[in-house]
Amino acid sequence: MDTQGLHHVTAFAKDPAENLRFYTEVLGLRLVKKTVNFDDPATYHFYFGNQNGEPGTIITFFPFQGSRPGTVGKGQAGRIYFSVPKGALAFWKRRLEENGLSVKKQIMLSEQVLLFNDTEDLPLAIMEDERSGQSEWTPPGITEKEAITGMRGVLLYSYRPEATIQFLIERFGYSKTGEEHQIVRLQSEARIGHIIDVDLAPKETGIGGYGTVHHVAFRTSEKEQAKWKDILADSHLASSDILDRSYFTSIYFRESGGILFEMATDEPGFMTDESFENLGTELKLPEWLEEHRSQITAVLPKMEKGE
Ligand code: ZN
Repeated sequence: MDTQGLHHVTAFAKDPAENLRFYTEVLGLRLVKKTVNFDDPATYHFYFGNQNGEPGTIITFFPFQGSRPGTVGKGQAGRIYFSVPKGALAFWKRRLEENGLSVKKQIMLSEQVLLFNDTEDLPLAIMEDERSGQSEWTPPGITEKEAITGMRGVLLYSYRPEATIQFLIERFGYSKTGEEHQIVRLQSEARIGHIIDVDLAPKETGIGGYGTVHHVAFRTSEKEQAKWKDILADSHLASSDILDRSYFTSIYFRESGGILFEMATDEPGFMTDESFENLGTELKLPEWLEEHRSQITAVLPKMEKGE
């Protein structure tokens, strides 16, 4: 039983309005769901993705107002990669620089990549990848020739890189496709979210806070999810119960290199409580929080446009 690749990546931010601005206006992703952190409903949870919010295109944030900056390091995903169509790299370098970001263009595993941080210091990268197709979500200034098509992958900073690599190959079905400058590249068969790079170089310990990744979620199906509990137990990894996250169900576990992983289902997806046209336009709450809506909206950080 293999995973299809990444489902979503979740990171910490600080300022909800800035997080929303950067990912929708600068990177041009669609806000596909605006909800709260189910474990801390005084904090927003934003989901950004392609037009449909497909698994593999989703990056999500908990913007904790007043939070401290984190340290990117061991026990975390250290960088999130986005895919763009072939030939779009020059457009993105110009666009990011016009938005005041410092962008480093370099060769990584024999391809040109753009490395940069978002405005709250979360490490990101943009890479060309034909296999992810084109996005239909094209906000002002971005055409389908340039629009981000989804996540391409992540770079992992593991406490035990060899064990992490072995787990990804033996349990998740990834194949090793390259190694350069102490970075090992693993790939799955998926069209998007198919790359996992593992950094073998020594790094300091990661500390949670804005600008760091909280967890990396992999795709599974409703039918197969329960079986993962057995597979993880077989690998001597403790896992959570199956939790209802409204738009998918999830199992969480810490892999042996210290990074928090999640197995999230494709079903039911983001159109379970909003139509395609209305995705991300209203604050959505799960049933058990709906009765507390007025208290929740009273404590959520104020956003522009009367939120
Ligand atoms: Zn998650």
